[in-house]
Amino acid sequence: MIKEKFDVSIVGGGIVRLATAYKLQITFPKLKIVVLEKEDSLAFHQTGRNSGVIHSGLYYKPNSFRAKNCVEGRKQLVKFAIENKIDHEICGKIVLAKDEKESERLKKLKINGEQNGLIGLRILNKSQLNEVEPYAGGISALYVPESGIINYKQTTEKLAEKIISINSNSKIICSCKVLDFDNSFLYTSIGKISSKNNIFCSGLFSDRLAKKDNLITNMKIVGFRGDYFKLTKEAKHKVKHLIYPVPNPEFPFLGVHLTRMTDGNIECGPNAVYTFKREGYKKYSFSLKDMLDSLFFIGTIRLFINHWKFGLNEYKRSFSKRLFLRDLQTLLPSLNIEDIEKAIVDFVDVMGCSLILTTGGTGPSKRDVTPEATISVCDKILPGFGEQMRNISLKYVPTAILSRQTAGIRSNSLVINLPGAPKSIDETLYELFPAVPYCIDLINGPYITTDKKLINSFRPRHAVRE
Ligand SMILES: Cc1cc2nc3c(=O)[nH]c(=O)nc-3n(C[C@H](O)[C@H](O)[C@H](O)COP(=O)(O)OP(=O)(O)OC[C@H]3O[C@@H](n4cnc5c(N)ncnc54)[C@H](O)[C@@H]3O)c2cc1C
Repeated sequence: MIKEKFDVSIVGGGIVRLATAYKLQITFPKLKIVVLEKEDSLAFHQTGRNSGVIHSGLYYKPNSFRAKNCVEGRKQLVKFAIENKIDHEICGKIVLAKDEKESERLKKLKINGEQNGLIGLRILNKSQLNEVEPYAGGISALYVPESGIINYKQTTEKLAEKIISINSNSKIICSCKVLDFDNSFLYTSIGKISSKNNIFCSGLFSDRLAKKDNLITNMKIVGFRGDYFKLTKEAKHKVKHLIYPVPNPEFPFLGVHLTRMTDGNIECGPNAVYTFKREGYKKYSFSLKDMLDSLFFIGTIRLFINHWKFGLNEYKRSFSKRLFLRDLQTLLPSLNIEDIEKAIVDFVDVMGCSLILTTGGTGPSKRDVTPEATISVCDKILPGFGEQMRNISLKYVPTAILSRQTAGIRSNSLVINLPGAPKSIDETLYELFPAVPYCIDLINGPYITTDKKLINSFRPRHAVRE
């Protein structure tokens, strides 16, 4: 049990609760607030996995709460980002019309946006569009200058930091799952916590916590997973803004779009596929409870009946890169299959592989792009692997100096880009591999043992498990 007593507890560590906690803390600096998050870091779920777009408020019904909230929230978010040096950019958005019917809808969207207080909205004809976004398809577009991008994880962490700097008695506690509560206590995975008031904003579990509080609602969370591709380094210059299709009012999702990210990458997606598990991010993630809960819910049944064709297409697209590409080409016709990367991302993010070896295409010629693909999907580069591979190969051929092999870490995976020729792979692999098991330990992968007759892997003594 945590002995301290808090004035307010806020359950969940995404952007909504941290923003709530921050607003409370600046309004009532003496309030002792505790934020409880079940994962070991903040922004682990939706907040840390979204497209990072600062929405302008273009689509919402004028005067509705959502419209006012979005426009006012955007202004406050951008101000907060500037004051706190959070990675963001007001890069603007292009909504592309592919035919006359969509062109007409653009005019309505412009009026809608203006009623919501957006400034600088402009309808672009084909030649104006070519100037602003030269590779975009479509016959006309709506330019939305106030849309932008931001790093929401960084924003969440900064909000947490600010809360503690205003009141050092407030606390942000991770790895603490709220299991139950009554009028006096929250019962959590780390014991009882006393709080006078509780605020629940627990993302994909909001409905279950509301039910525990005896709140009768006719709503349920039904999980949809978004699949994204990334544009290769070579294709990035084709996208200058956020590029969106005109939303089809008959469908509940926006459709695939191209999003610039604050780390310089460009994401294509998401498609929206029903998932059998809340907070399940892999194609085959499954929870019986979540599945039954959603499939017996009238809202899901209605959604499936009304939009089964749309849903089927989304499913097909989730398994076919070519279909995904076909939709993207309506926004960016010159995009080709080589422009989008997914293989490595799929191995890491979908299949959860801890070690990925790629070979070939590491020379200086135009077609050699595996080092670029590796670098663009990795969070951290490990140049030592490439240097060592070149050192080894130089013993055999002087042209090894032209090779650009590399390695890096994406999430909990080590990706090593080996040379192409089987002989060179054989020469390098045995000398590289001794460092691999310990590297995988360090990124929280499985503990790998080797056959010492073949490869004697090295670990510092403290890391050796008997
Ligand atoms: C694919 C996708 C793309 C999106 N793109 C954008 C975008 O570009 N721009 C935009 O503005 N919005 C976007 N959104 C929406 C946006 O991400 C969400 O609205 C926002 O992140 C919701 O924040 P949250 O704090 O409510 O939820 P979350 O970020 O999911 O946080 C909820 C937290 O509560 C915790 N929690 C749950 N139960 C408990 C418990 N019992 N005890 C303790 N902790 C608990 C969870 O672990 C989680 O960390 C996108 C959403 C998706 C899914």
